[in-house]
Amino acid sequence: MFEKLALIGIGLIGSSIARATRLKGLAKTIAISTRRAETLDEARALGLGDSYTMDPIEAVRHADLVILCIPVQAYGAVMAQIGPYLEPSAIISDVGSVKQHVIKEMAPFVPKGVHLIPGHPIAGTEHSGPAAGFPELFTNRWCVLTPGKDVAPKAVEKLTAFWTALGSNVEIMDAAHHDMVLAITSHIPHLVAYNIVGTVADLEADTQSEVIKFSASGFRDFTRIAASDPVMWRDVFLTNRDAVLEMLGRFLEDLAKLQRMVRVGDGPGMEALFTRTRKVRRSIITAGQETAAPDFGRPHGEAKVLEGPSGTAVLDGAAAPLVEVNVEPQRPVREHGGGDDA
Ligand code: NAP
Repeated sequence: MFEKLALIGIGLIGSSIARATRLKGLAKTIAISTRRAETLDEARALGLGDSYTMDPIEAVRHADLVILCIPVQAYGAVMAQIGPYLEPSAIISDVGSVKQHVIKEMAPFVPKGVHLIPGHPIAGTEHSGPAAGFPELFTNRWCVLTPGKDVAPKAVEKLTAFWTALGSNVEIMDAAHHDMVLAITSHIPHLVAYNIVGTVADLEADTQSEVIKFSASGFRDFTRIAASDPVMWRDVFLTNRDAVLEMLGRFLEDLAKLQRMVRVGDGPGMEALFTRTRKVRRSIITAGQETAAPDFGRPHGEAKVLEGPSGTAVLDGAAAPLVEVNVEPQRPVREHGGGDDA
């Protein structure tokens, strides 16, 4: 499909792309470039590519597909370096979690004739570095591409075919729309998780009580999200500020309505809302975007399934109280955290 794929950055996402590209035979050669010698040595030892260099200019020479797999705040400096050396008619793409910001950072350095097609695979784990990647990371996950209006449709088709071959479902979207959608589905949930876990930690410190020891499963689910990579998430909030503030405004309005329902004892109102939200959870499971298996913030293998009332099982985990859950067939569960589908 491609003659030469150049991956700039070879952490979790870059190495997963390298492994899947190799496995599916999507590029004749794979050039790997990264910032630090240790990371490059690790990638070489893992046999992730065909050539290895700390010079991104060398990596992009003769490449017909270049993908930036580095933190979004690093784009400007890297693009200034590689821009003049991109092959005419090459595709330059990325995997960053925000899109309007990266277009602003990349576009000024893209020469005429080179196709800029930003991308965002909505897939991740809590781990980082070359060894963390695996070829199935993108299987059945969405990959959003946000090409500008002037980009040649043929180039968009080619990159769509590439991500489809990696196992993703591809959606073409306007960058602003992407940032708004991700703000509410990913960024606000992370903000809420960071806040609630911070509040509980402060409460424990202030009251010297054992709130964390006796935390219920709802709180433990929040701690999983709040364990996400601090630098990456700082960057998300610094670079998608407008969309996050817009969605946060709506969230706070709805929270105020819920607060009122609790204060005035509006049982039917709460029941109607919780019934609606339960349906959302079920539709996400039906769409194959999540499994019904609970996580409770610890590896799944640790929990013992005991017998419970009909239709339920009782999970007994060393660090957790007994919890009832709906019984659903077990499917492999992928932990998220570093960039929980960031
Ligand atoms: P990672 O495992 O930490 O790897 C980061 C890579 O970027 C490494 O090769 C690292 O090089 C390089 N790098 C770090 N800082 C750099 C800088 N200032 N200049 C140049 N290179 C630098 O990260 P990742 O999880 O693969 O994330 C990479 C990108 O994927 C990010 O833009 C993120 O938004 C996006 N993304 C992540 C997830 C997720 O769940 N993790 C999901 C979707 C999208 P050295 O090791 O050599 O320093």
